Amino acid sequence: MDGPAPPGRLVGVELVVASLRLRRPVGTSAGTHLERPTLFVRVATDAAEGWGEAGALPGGTLVDPPLDEVLDRLRQRTVPSLLTASAARGGEVPAAAQVGRLGGTAPADRLALAALELAVLDAELRAAGTSLAARLGVARADVRAGAVVGIPPGRELAALLDEVGQVADAPRVRMKIAPGWDVVPVAAVRDRWPDLALQVDANGAYGALDPDGAADALAALDPYGLTCIEQPLPPADLTASAALAARLATPVCLDESLTSLRRVVDAARYGAMSVACLKPARLGGVFAATRALAHCRSVGVEAFVGGLFEAGPGRAAGLALSALDGASLPGDVSAPASYLEETPCSYPPQRGWSLTPAATPGVGSDTDPGALGPMATARWWYPAAGA
Ligand code: MG
Repeated sequence: MDGPAPPGRLVGVELVVASLRLRRPVGTSAGTHLERPTLFVRVATDAAEGWGEAGALPGGTLVDPPLDEVLDRLRQRTVPSLLTASAARGGEVPAAAQVGRLGGTAPADRLALAALELAVLDAELRAAGTSLAARLGVARADVRAGAVVGIPPGRELAALLDEVGQVADAPRVRMKIAPGWDVVPVAAVRDRWPDLALQVDANGAYGALDPDGAADALAALDPYGLTCIEQPLPPADLTASAALAARLATPVCLDESLTSLRRVVDAARYGAMSVACLKPARLGGVFAATRALAHCRSVGVEAFVGGLFEAGPGRAAGLALSALDGASLPGDVSAPASYLEETPCSYPPQRGWSLTPAATPGVGSDTDPGALGPMATARWWYPAAGA
């Protein structure tokens, strides 16, 4: 992406935490959630206003810090860095492509920088009257979304088949598995839907077994023609993932292991994956994700853009990225309305499992401050020096 005109002179940055109601309760190890707290970032300049959001979840993930930690990082470090950098430029906000260099490489820094970069990018594109899709030079107008199916409560096979049945027309179904919930449910789904593009996601759970036990359990899935097995082992050890990949006929996909562009390069080079789930928020932003997609394409690794239950701007950016050639598989780009009861953000309309990235100025989602107001639980305003 070439650098366009900068986003204008900084007026200030606002952080807003909002509580968005989920369509269905989501069960995690930390309990059952009815709300999706979301951290929004608003960057106001004299030319435009841009919105971003943090990919952070309230409880974090295996590798991503929780929302409170990312909020703290934004308040203590990332936003002050932007204020300082803008003041040093006579008030001009740095170009979005520079925001990732404002400082810090820890996981919280990457999520915080990605959120701020998204808001600056949105402002920059609006000031230039350009869409993210146009800026990226996307190749496709038609992007396909994949579906995700969790492990049903009580591991009931009938409940799983019921849930898969509701999304069996999707171009790809990604099913969560864990030791003890793998070959039986996969065989049952495959038996009912022989032609379904099916992949499984273990979220690192097979690290609970010894290496041979994990390889044997996962090799038992080889006869079922899966698109890939996602993150079978814990994220840190790429060598173990490479050894496992060598033993399986099913392609190995990595997700949580891919926390930076460097990790994407290493994982491909070590043979630790032949498919990549790339999450822009986790990688440090849209620009890092663009480079990761290009790298995967150049080394013959299939890739798709993953999501973290975003409310609008983050999801819309993922949709535009999913239209790039490097995104060879359907991504997590279905409309936020599929999991959020309400969101203050617009999103391109979904036709079945197809979407087209927005052609309007910005990253592809409009955040309505009036709708956000009643959902906000906390907000902070950081005025530019002299503003
Ligand atoms: Mg995953």
